Formats: sequence, structure tokens, C-alpha cells
Amino acid sequence: MSGRAQLMWDPAVAGYDFGTGHPMDPVRLDLTRRLVGAFGLDREVEVVAAQRAGESTLRLVHREDYVAAVKAASADPDAADQAYGLGTVDDPAFAGMHEVSALIAGQSVGAAEAVWRGDALHAVNFAGGLHHAMPGAASGFCVYNDAALAVARLLELGAERVAYVDVDVHHGDGVQAAFWEDPRVLTISLHEHPRTLFPQTGWPYETGAGGAAEGSAVNVALPAGTGDAGWLRAFHAVVPELLAEFRPQVLVTQHGADTHFEDPLAHLAVSLDAQRAVQVACHGLAHEHADGRWIALGGGGYAVVDVVPRSWTHLVGIAAGREIAPETVIPDGWRQEVFARTRQLAPQRMTDGRWPVAYREWEAGYDPADRLDQAIVATRKAAFPLRGLLP
Ligand SMILES: [Zn+2]
Repeated sequence: MSGRAQLMWDPAVAGYDFGTGHPMDPVRLDLTRRLVGAFGLDREVEVVAAQRAGESTLRLVHREDYVAAVKAASADPDAADQAYGLGTVDDPAFAGMHEVSALIAGQSVGAAEAVWRGDALHAVNFAGGLHHAMPGAASGFCVYNDAALAVARLLELGAERVAYVDVDVHHGDGVQAAFWEDPRVLTISLHEHPRTLFPQTGWPYETGAGGAAEGSAVNVALPAGTGDAGWLRAFHAVVPELLAEFRPQVLVTQHGADTHFEDPLAHLAVSLDAQRAVQVACHGLAHEHADGRWIALGGGGYAVVDVVPRSWTHLVGIAAGREIAPETVIPDGWRQEVFARTRQLAPQRMTDGRWPVAYREWEAGYDPADRLDQAIVATRKAAFPLRGLLP
């Protein structure tokens, strides 16, 4: 098979459920999958359910004792060991936690294998993007780091340069940590400033371990309140130049939808339309710099009815080569299902009414007194010279 795009999906991923009241409500995955179906996008891609990641795959990133702790908590949630971040407020233990976390990881690893082997040019796993999980601990709603595992699997298959771009509102700390000492992986994260948001890392001066890996981590710490124009300006001022220099063989992107102005857990003010613009840009960058090889993941996003399904349905449409126009009206059947499931009114269109989103290009100059421009300058000054680029 050489389908153009794969959508990684096993309905069992919706079992990744920390329980009532937890912000990471699995209804967001189910509603996204249904919206993808409502637009017929599942007929434009190959829908593939990959196997659960096995022990040897998980061990590409995670420590043996941590995997054992997850398995123990999964078998007996009351026995969860908080020293591993399990059984905490952010990551409550639940029965079957190991299996479903490994299943989500398996979808990202399967995406990596499909893209590396040429079975698909693009692959999407919107259930993935669990970027906070650390080699030896659960963190920030994330148990196994499927994003890092996908990258690690690419390296195992022989990739020499993999770029990871993370636009979730939170710092992609777990992926950065996994490849901190590895010059084969360039991690770039744009996120709300660590001063105001979990996980309080992602400062511009975090640029990778010394030696060969120096400059392999890039962090853009955006001021709280940053909106569409600022977010797009920062993305375009940093990401394309780095990818042009790094020449990745594969581009892995994480599309957490929690940058949105409606998101209850963070403080950026980005619209669905700007999220879509960045998705389109990532797709274009994959073609420009990675021969089209693109793995796109989900991530955070806690406006589970209004934002997440629309954002990731756009992502699937872009990967499928059938972009959904922003003004498109959402099928009634999906809206009725949303109401039946959640008693919330579903959005009517695939836009927040901000399309087309305008921004000022970095090349046109910057304002040293502007807080957003200061953030961009801090990143370029800290990281660009380490990659042989002008700050
Ligand atoms: Zn997030």
C-alpha cells in the first residue's frame, strides 16, 4: 500500500481516561473521529489501527523501572507509586492504564514506521502528542511519550535527522529531555512563557546538551495573551529557517489545541483559524524540507467540544490533501451527536471568523520594546548562532 496519508485510529484509545472531572476528557477524541467521518475524510485517508507498543519499543525512551511501575499501577490503581508521577492529581492511575497508553504510543510508532518505509507520505495520530511524559515519570496528563517514541523509532530505523516541532501551549519538555544529548534530533517548541504556565521550562537558554547536541533544542517562550498575529509571527520567525538549515528526513509535529482563546488551562489567545494556518505551514515545511515525510500528532486541548474536534479535523483534512475551507458549515448530524453526548451546543462552522489571519513577517523588522519581539529575539540569540544562523 502506498496511500498518501494514514489516519492512525483504534477506537480503544478513548479508554485513555483519567476519570470524571479530569480535563483530558476522552470525548474529545471520539468527537474528533466523528467529525472526521462527518466530512468523509476517513474515505480520503487509509485508517489504520497499529499495534500497542511493546516493551522493547517503550524502552527506546522509558526506563525499565518506570514501565514496571505503570504496569503495576495499571493492574492495581490503588498501589500507584507517586514517586513515578502515578496516582497524582494530574495523572491518576486507572485500570488498564498501561495497555491504553501503550496503544496510543503504538499509533505514533506505527505512523513513524509507515512514513519511514514509504507506505504513507503523511500520518496523523491525533490521540497522541503526549509530550510531557518523561523517561522515568508520568507528567502533565501523559504516561508514555508517544511523540518521543515515534522519533526514537525513526532513529532506530536509520534516520539521521528528525525535526520535532511542538506548538502546544505547553513546553514539549518530555521530548526535549529524551533527545537533549542527541544531535540527530532538533526539537523546537513554541509555548506560553514558563513564568506563567506548567511545566515551567522551555526558556530560550535551553538549547541542548553541550558538544555535538548544542543547539539541538530551541524554545520560544511567548508572553501570556499572545494572539493570532503574534503566534504566527513567532512561528515564521523561527521554524522555517531552522528546518531549512537542519534538512530533516522526517518532520514530526505536535498540534496541541490548547493555545486557543477558549482553552481553560492556559493563557494564549489563538483562534482556530491561526491553528489551521500553522497546520498548513507545517505541511508545507514537510514538503519543502523533508520530502513530504510528515507525522502529525495531537496533544493538549481542553475546550473539548468547541475547539479540539474542529482543530484536529482540519489537521486530518490537510494531511489528506482535502483541506476544509474555514467557512464550511459543520454537518448537522455531528452537532446533534455533540448535544446528545455533552448537552453542549456545538459550533456551526469550521472557523472562528478570523480567516484569513494576517501577521507581520520578521524580515520586515522588529520593535525592541515589544514583548513578543523580545521573546523572538531571545530565542534567535540563544539558539540560532549554535546552528550557524544569524540571530
Ligand atoms: Zn498542552
